[in-house]
Formats: sequence, structure tokens, C-alpha cells
Amino acid sequence: MKTEAPNPNTIVWFNEKFIPLGEANVNILTHALNYGTGVFEGIRGYFEEKQQDLFLVRPVEHYQRWKRNAGILRIGIPKSATDLAALTAELCRRNGFRSHVYVRPLAYKCSARIGVAPDENDAYAIVVVPFGDYFDSTKGLRAGVVSWRRVEDTAIPSRAKICGAYVNSVLATDEARHNGHDEAIFLTEEGHVSDSATCNLFIFRNGKLVTPPGTDNILEGITRASVIDLARNEMRLEVVERSISRSELYVSDEVFFTGTAVEIAPIVAVDHRPVGTGEVGPVATKLRSLYVEATRGRLLNYRQWLWPVYRTTAADKAA
Ligand code: PMP
Repeated sequence: MKTEAPNPNTIVWFNEKFIPLGEANVNILTHALNYGTGVFEGIRGYFEEKQQDLFLVRPVEHYQRWKRNAGILRIGIPKSATDLAALTAELCRRNGFRSHVYVRPLAYKCSARIGVAPDENDAYAIVVVPFGDYFDSTKGLRAGVVSWRRVEDTAIPSRAKICGAYVNSVLATDEARHNGHDEAIFLTEEGHVSDSATCNLFIFRNGKLVTPPGTDNILEGITRASVIDLARNEMRLEVVERSISRSELYVSDEVFFTGTAVEIAPIVAVDHRPVGTGEVGPVATKLRSLYVEATRGRLLNYRQWLWPVYRTTAADKAA
């Protein structure tokens, strides 16, 4: 899918100020632009008509992950995860967003000079834009294993969302699309199933949900963690984290992706072979509907995942 360029008048957080997106620009020699030395995040917010509120989904967990991952590149972010979540809610209010949104925090090495050696000059920005579905996944996606291998932790840590590492995802997506698939599936150098270009993967096989472990170079997804909770607590399913072989994708009852942008996206074909019946399966369907309910504030047990933008007091948040 291709998203539209956001309105340049959108208010963003840049250099510790609220300014219009059209003015939030960097120098052409910026270290991150030349060498990929940035760490980004992706957070969703869902506007719920009935409650007339916009719910940011697990923003504190996303900002905790961001701060830790930025530490891998020794980029400092001078605010707590809770303060960053509050700042994001304020950005939504300043823009008056009453639609689903996507939040893009970016922390980066900002020196504008030639030279790979990093220094202490770090900057960060937060942009929030209106956002709809990433995929139309109602009919299920067609995925393909690509010839590119997932970045190894010994080269560029894949558990961090490091800007430069996403060249790996761009190459994979390009190959998958040219081969007639909607989305790519990566293998590790050892041949284990890892991530897709932008999401995590689950299979449903022999009555169990299985997903690759952190040691198979996945990005440790927050949606993945949410889905594991929902599967265990609401569906009483056994969830196992273990390495998955490529051919298991072909013999599973179901395969699906999870991620902030893709949410829960069922896969109906892998490498031009039907998955299970070739239709969207019942486990992914049920998990998808639980995820939608939980992220729209309709399941009380999961309200702690959500940060309501328009009801800001602590008492309201606890309600
Ligand atoms: N894997 C990759 C490679 C990703 O880019 C993403 C998106 N952040 C995910 C998995 C899913 O992570 P999350 O559920 O935290 O969005």
C-alpha cells in the first residue's frame, strides 16, 4: 500500500517545539540521512465513534522500546516514556484528530558533516498523521519467501528499528511485489522463518500457535505480545515460541502476520501454495476481532493498553 503525503500544516514535535510539518526539515549532510543512524517507532491510535475518543495503543511500551533501542546506537532521548506518550496525546489534540492515526517517532544522529564516526549530537521528532488500513486484509494476503535474508544481529541488530536496517525490508518488499505477492517473508541465514518486511509471523499448526523466537532475528513486536496475551487469556490457546522451518508454512492450518500497521493480517497463500483451505482461517479471524475490540477500548481487561487522548485526567484513564 502507498500512503498519501501528509498535510504540511500538520503540527509536529521537532527540536523541542511544536511546528508545522512543512518546516520540520533537516540539513542534507545530516548523519542519519547519509548513514542510516536513526531509530524509529510506529504507534497507532484508533478513534472510537461511540466513545468519541482517540485511543493510543500501548504508547508507553512503544516509547520504552524506542528509548532502549536508541541506546543500541547510543542515541539519547531526553524524556521519559510516559512524558513522550503525553506529548503524543497533546500533538493529537493540537491537530484536532478525530480519526485513526499513526505516530512516527524518530530519533537520530543529527550532526551535519561528512564522516561516519558518530558524536553526541542527537535529535528526535514525533509526527502524527491520520491513517487507515495498511492492507485490505479481509480477503487474506498472499505472501512469498524472498531470496534476501533477514539482517543478522551480528550485522545490524534487527530487534531495534534502525533506519538503515530497513533497506533490508525495502529490498524484500520489492522482490515480493515483483513476484506477485502482497508481502515478503524473510528467512534467517540458517533458514528459519523470521519476520516479514514490516511485521511478525504466526502459524497455527496441530492446535497450537507458533511464532519465531527473539533469537531468529525478529523485531520483538508489541502487537505480537498483545496477540500472545489475547490467544492465551481469551482463547485458551497454547502459544509456543520456537524456530519455524520454511516448509511448515506450506502445511500449517493458518498463517498470519501481526504488527502495528498491518494489525492482524491473515495469509491465504505462501509461495503460490494455498495455506490450509486457502481461505481466511477461524483463529486469525477470532484474534483479529479480539484485537479490534481491545484496541477500541471495548474490552475492560485491556483498557490499560490504551491512552485516551481526549480524556486526560488520571481518574479518567483508570475508569
Ligand atoms: N517486524 C518488523 C520487521 C517490523 O518492522 C515491525 C513493525 N514495527 C514488526 C515486526 C511489528 O512490531 P510491532 O507489533 O511492535 O509494530
